[in-house]
Amino acid sequence: MNDHLERLNPEQREAVESLDGPLLVLAGAGTGKTRVLTTRFAHILMSNRAFPSQVLAVTFTNKAAREMRERVGAILGRPAEGLWLGTFHALCARMLRRHAEYVGLSSSFTILDTDDQLRLLKQVMELHRIDPKRWPPPGMMGAIQRWKDRGLTPDRVTPAEDTDFGGGKARQVYADYQARLRDLNAADFGDLMLHIVEILRTRPDVLAQYHRTFRFILVDEYQDTNTIQYLWLRLLAQKAPGEPQNICCVGDDDQSIYSWRGAEVENILRFEKDFPGARIVRLESNYRSTAPILAAAAGLIAHNEGRLGKTLRPGRNDASGEKLLVLGVWDSDEEARAVGERIEQLHRERHPLSEMAILVRAGFQTRAFEERLITLGIPYRVIGGVRFYERAEIRDAMAYMRIMHQPADDLAFERIVNTPRRGVGDAAMQMLHTTARTHRIPLAAATLQLLAEGSLKGRVREGLGQLMACLARGREALARGGEGPIHVAVVETLLDESGYTEMWKKDKSAEAPGRLDNLKELVRALADFETLGGFLEHVSLVMENEEQAGTDRVNLMTLHGAKGLEFDTVFLPGWEEGVFPSQRSLDEGGNKALEEERRLAYVGITRARKRAILSHAANRRIYANWQSSIPSRFLDEIPAEHVEQAGTASLAREQLRSAPPVFGGQFPLMAKRPRVVEAWEQPGRPPRENALPVGTRVFHQKFGYGTVTGGEDNKLDVEFEKAGFKRVLDSYVEPAGA
Ligand code: ATP
Ligand code: MG
Repeated sequence: MNDHLERLNPEQREAVESLDGPLLVLAGAGTGKTRVLTTRFAHILMSNRAFPSQVLAVTFTNKAAREMRERVGAILGRPAEGLWLGTFHALCARMLRRHAEYVGLSSSFTILDTDDQLRLLKQVMELHRIDPKRWPPPGMMGAIQRWKDRGLTPDRVTPAEDTDFGGGKARQVYADYQARLRDLNAADFGDLMLHIVEILRTRPDVLAQYHRTFRFILVDEYQDTNTIQYLWLRLLAQKAPGEPQNICCVGDDDQSIYSWRGAEVENILRFEKDFPGARIVRLESNYRSTAPILAAAAGLIAHNEGRLGKTLRPGRNDASGEKLLVLGVWDSDEEARAVGERIEQLHRERHPLSEMAILVRAGFQTRAFEERLITLGIPYRVIGGVRFYERAEIRDAMAYMRIMHQPADDLAFERIVNTPRRGVGDAAMQMLHTTARTHRIPLAAATLQLLAEGSLKGRVREGLGQLMACLARGREALARGGEGPIHVAVVETLLDESGYTEMWKKDKSAEAPGRLDNLKELVRALADFETLGGFLEHVSLVMENEEQAGTDRVNLMTLHGAKGLEFDTVFLPGWEEGVFPSQRSLDEGGNKALEEERRLAYVGITRARKRAILSHAANRRIYANWQSSIPSRFLDEIPAEHVEQAGTASLAREQLRSAPPVFGGQFPLMAKRPRVVEAWEQPGRPPRENALPVGTRVFHQKFGYGTVTGGEDNKLDVEFEKAGFKRVLDSYVEPAGA
């Protein structure tokens, strides 16, 4: 009956079978922590120590929860139902529904989305006469969220905890915001945990009830719990003296990657103190990866200081295995092409697509790969995220472009008319629609008419007036044209002047920087096209390419989203300074942020079972400019004996390293692809001859004299002396001599 135990090594077995008392499994990647947790769950049920509803199991993602439910079901031989199994938030939402009245809510409370939260907070701030220009509401939201993550209800925020934000009124705003939520019978995301912790703290009867219910508590990815999650676990697990404290947490300090969201790896260190007599089990055999992959990951993470220290050795007998492949490529296009070709090749060799993953540092990086996979007809899915062109900020920005390009596009107009907020409420919208219908004109034209008639008043008038003026200026600039892709600058200006970019800059939520990066990436993509129309057409074709049916698809996701997962083949692109480690971590300075990036790199490599392919591009486009990039320091930290180098730019890499830095640490820019064709690089665009190197002084028939700053294919970026920066066709340009 207990044959599930036979597939465990002795240490794993110990962790599964020691059911009584607190237990911490502290072990490296791929050592079977999740397997131990799942098997322990099944073992508890099969040895009749508890009913399924008496086990509380916490996973980090919904996907992990689903997998655990399936695995427990498989071991039990029947579907596992009625389980308290899920993410912290899912479990807390369920608990809160049962006891909502204790915090002044009814059990049917609504969970607000971020838009609604912000609207409500703005109202509260207005009542306090806090200047939203000086103290942007998203910033205040951030402060409140941080308090909530730390378990601080308004009355627990001491003056010492208060922030300067809001001119000393932040605490009061927080209190009033909570009161408004209560009036509306609503909770925001942070409240789900905050309220239930408050209830458990103040209601011994409720706490006692859960102590009786939960005989066993299981927690995966324990290293990434934040304070409030930790408080919740401790409340549920610390029972009266003499009662069993059957909590089992598994984690790996080297995989703590959420400190930016308030996670505290110290929670691992506190475990023994909080649960005296806790047993600690270490697992040392890695069953996931080949020896070279493990050795590479171990070599990398050894550069972090202050680790708890663990041993990790290959648990499988194959000491063989491919080395890590490090591809140096010319630019991000070539990177996407190289990855695409390898995927095709592996697929031809009968490797399933679902066993391949592309793991990126930041969401914006998926675009190049998505487009490449679509071009190649390779099905893919974006896990834990949305396909690039379906992301909200990208759809918004596209709507701005569409309405500028095609003033009759009512759908686009409706999408952006009040994004950012311009005071266009239901009444104003109604008016626009009526005018449009009556005169059979598009909404944008109706807006112009109402503005001209003076029928719109106050803030709406001002807001829409500005919007229409921006659009008109953009259209004019496009019509005037000029050499090269003027549309790139026009779109950038439109997004700036309309206040759209600003909206995200002011947003202090954790997602905002990623959204801004996505917008930059969109502008970069735009520069690949001659005209705005051409780009819009391209995107509509890409979008039409719906998620293909069938399950065999390549996985695309961020490194953060890949935690706990595994694949035969893992692609790790963009290993360049400023991308990975991220620019933000470098700007922060010091070791803390950098070490977290390194842990992320460790998570990335250890997702691979059989092969890991890392890549770095020598050039990246920043807006419409090219900038050369330096290979990630993490590449150098991987012991060389486990790495094989390949690619067009692997030579260039050595040259780059030995070249003296100019421009504040940047290396000299190169305007053209070098003429190097490796075996794996299909002859795509032929690299052009007679390139004009960066720095060359040139003459253009229309724009006069200027200096080359970058370029691609038959286009050159030129800083003109009179006309400023332009991207022009190189056939119009000739060297001017010094
Ligand atoms: P991570 O730190 O990445 O979350 P983990 O420690 O949770 O990793 P698991 O995902 O549980 O590790 O296991 C890694 C792989 O090793 C899985 O494919 C699992 O099925 C396999 N595995 C675990 N233990 C054994 C074992 N005793 N024998 C064979 N395979 C095992
Ligand atoms: Mg795991």
